[in-house]
Amino acid sequence: MILDCAVIGGGPAGLNASLVLGRARRKTVLFDDNKPRNAVTSEAHGFITRDGINPQELKRIAQQELKSYPDLSIERQRVNHVSKEQQLFRIETENGDIYKAKKIILATGFKEILPEIPHLEEFYGKSLFSCPFCDGWELRDRPLAVIAEIQGAYHMAKVASNWTSDLIVCTNGKQVLSNSEKESLEKNGIKINDKKIRSLIGENGSLKGIEFHGGEIISRTGGFVAAEWVQATSIGSSLGCSVNERGGINADRFQRTNIEGVFACGDTIIGGPSQLIIAAAEGSMAAISVNGELLEERFITAS
Ligand SMILES: Cc1cc2nc3c(=O)[nH]c(=O)nc-3n(C[C@H](O)[C@H](O)[C@H](O)COP(=O)(O)OP(=O)(O)OC[C@H]3O[C@@H](n4cnc5c(N)ncnc54)[C@H](O)[C@@H]3O)c2cc1C
Repeated sequence: MILDCAVIGGGPAGLNASLVLGRARRKTVLFDDNKPRNAVTSEAHGFITRDGINPQELKRIAQQELKSYPDLSIERQRVNHVSKEQQLFRIETENGDIYKAKKIILATGFKEILPEIPHLEEFYGKSLFSCPFCDGWELRDRPLAVIAEIQGAYHMAKVASNWTSDLIVCTNGKQVLSNSEKESLEKNGIKINDKKIRSLIGENGSLKGIEFHGGEIISRTGGFVAAEWVQATSIGSSLGCSVNERGGINADRFQRTNIEGVFACGDTIIGGPSQLIIAAAEGSMAAISVNGELLEERFITAS
């Protein structure tokens, strides 16, 4: 059987794309190996009606809803490779299964590369987070740190200052702030510590302090970490999808990439803020675009 669409990646982007395609009676398979980057956290915020939900519970509910649509199925396995053969895509999975599809939706998300700081992983997703909009409310009015050794430290510090007046930017020995940025932060009561971090201190995921080389320890109970982002898979690049300056796959407002028949949505397009609800909305748009193209092809062929 030739699928109308293969959706690769079953986070909110791929799940919502699948929901819309299933409801549109499009023969669709959703492939997911369930390794999202938010697996480190137990609460997701900012998604209306689901504020505070465990991300895996959100996924479970979504998968349950998809069961209502017989043209749609879920394959809980990784896609290893996708190639374009004339007008069809050939999808190869980790179990060696081969599928053919008319359209592809890439919803594979991205992976984060955290700064190399001892014990950081123990706190990430529990008291240190990636996005102030996602977790700032829970950390409000506490002594916080922004740990950022990449460009963007200034932006993250400005945004984080919304939730606390006691903020220290830690650049882990890197010079990532210009003089004017330092001046602006200091004018706004935000402190800067540019020493190399020796270790993070705390227990059970709750941060208590940051220890620097040289022995200084500052008391902090949470904060935000700027990570580098890379694509979770090389499927987009092997298909020839172009990328933006942040490494996200370029997609227009209909989620079309530069490769005909390939659509992309969610974190994988890394355009702006990374949020569950934005990913889900883009997934919906991608599905509607896929359906639109399939309709155009059918009606042109028929005329
Ligand atoms: C610590 C942390 C906390 C966060 N908190 C919030 C929050 O509170 N609110 C909020 O709105 N956002 C939050 N986010 C951001 C949010 O998790 C992402 O924006 C959202 O998950 C993006 O959805 P997505 O569907 O694009 O990608 P993902 O959720 O990353 O899903 C991608 C899926 O594709 C799968 N996949 C990848 N490659 C393949 C392949 N080759 N074959 C099969 N499957 C594949 C992955 O395993 C994964 O299941 C948080 C992120 C982090 C890291």
